Amino acid sequence: MAMAEKEFKKDKNKDFSDWYNTVIYAADLVDNRYNVQGFIVHKPMAMRSFKKMYAIFEKELEKDGHQPSLFPTVIPEENFELEKKHAEGFVADVFWITERGSEKLKRKLALRPTSETAMYQMYSLWVRDHTDLPVKLYQSCTVFRNESETSPFLRGREFLWIEAHDAFATEKESKEQIAKDMGISARVLGERLALPFMFFDRPKWDTFPGAEHTYATDILLPDGKTLQVASTHLLGQNFAKAFNVKFKDAENNEHFVHQTCYGPGIWRIMAAVIAVHGDDRGLVMPPSIAPIDVVIVPIIKSKADPTAIVDKCRKLKDELIEAGLSVELDLSDKTPGFKYAQWEMKGVPVRVEIGEKEVAESRVTLAARDTKQRRQVSDKSVVQEIRKLGEEMAARLKKNADDYLVAHVKDAESIDEIKEILDKTRGYARVNIHSVEMDGKECADTLQFETKGGKVRGVRIGKDEKPSGDAKCVVCGKPAKHVVYIARQY
Ligand SMILES: [Zn+2]
Repeated sequence: MAMAEKEFKKDKNKDFSDWYNTVIYAADLVDNRYNVQGFIVHKPMAMRSFKKMYAIFEKELEKDGHQPSLFPTVIPEENFELEKKHAEGFVADVFWITERGSEKLKRKLALRPTSETAMYQMYSLWVRDHTDLPVKLYQSCTVFRNESETSPFLRGREFLWIEAHDAFATEKESKEQIAKDMGISARVLGERLALPFMFFDRPKWDTFPGAEHTYATDILLPDGKTLQVASTHLLGQNFAKAFNVKFKDAENNEHFVHQTCYGPGIWRIMAAVIAVHGDDRGLVMPPSIAPIDVVIVPIIKSKADPTAIVDKCRKLKDELIEAGLSVELDLSDKTPGFKYAQWEMKGVPVRVEIGEKEVAESRVTLAARDTKQRRQVSDKSVVQEIRKLGEEMAARLKKNADDYLVAHVKDAESIDEIKEILDKTRGYARVNIHSVEMDGKECADTLQFETKGGKVRGVRIGKDEKPSGDAKCVVCGKPAKHVVYIARQY
């Protein structure tokens, strides 16, 4: 790899796009030379992290009563069209299968862009009475969307995600599920991946097609654009009516179910991890999803006999694997400094250095990826110390990322101030707006046009932010009912 000939060094905050589009290839996550645009090859360094990320989410979902499932990739056109708003919202995004061998299909088949219309078809067969509820299924899969511009992990024509689809007897239960879904996002993103996020109740004009409400999780990237990484939708009874998903209650009365769906965007979460935690030397992977937890680098002086050092490295590797860590032992003939730079670029959280001194004194030297500070620990406590170092590093990543977010939210009282915040602060502008119902859309459109892409992300959930009594809409001057956040978006 050409990149291996020199150290990775790129200023992430100066030119984020260049940094991102260099590091994902340099760190060997993906190859985009597959000859269909928008479809990329995921390499082992990416898949190792994705598998860990999936495992974390799946465990959370199952703890919440969800069960795994896998529905077909193809969705017949007639299913797709049953929920009108959903069909309208997705029609431009769909890849269609129109032939089977040399035979033209009478009914086209969609490659799933999302699976409501595949799954609810079956829910209508499965749900009979109240004892069949709730239904809580998820699937970990790829979906297909005809995106015009594509970039690995940010936007693709085939991408990885999880979708959970639930059906309940009551509206109350469905609303409780929304809160549980957000709880899962908060635990995984905030605690396990050290990502700073905000939950927004999306304005009415920006809900998921077919949903009553969309609650989305946004993460600010270093270029000031915000990335929606997960969302949960209150579907009400829209799809239940379209797909005839009904149940009989204890008194034998028929009702439509109340539904929710939750989609953690596995791909986009990876983009956020890379973007938020990475530095000018490459990736910084949080220990919970690092593709490799530990790299062992032997320090061998040119004339010395390396046997004792290499033996100790091998023995430690076995011990760490035994403890459940994923480990690389770098025995290549490159210099230690070169190896450090390579593994730093790939984001390995902990490096172990073993040389003559370490052998003689029954200890090893550890270094954390983010601070690069070294620490001597005894052979006996090395597993424990590696875990501790990882935890400390995760806490630092979280603190830095949280501080960054706080510093990048600013109040604005005019469109000029919003522009200033989007262009110079590269963050969110917090403003008053007269409405987040459909009658506010015109102001949002004006705002988007005037600020070159600033979008109303919605009302922040969990903060109870309200305009003061005499506050006016930042666009039209009418009395303001809501505080919303504005940012450019991916
Ligand atoms: Zn207005």
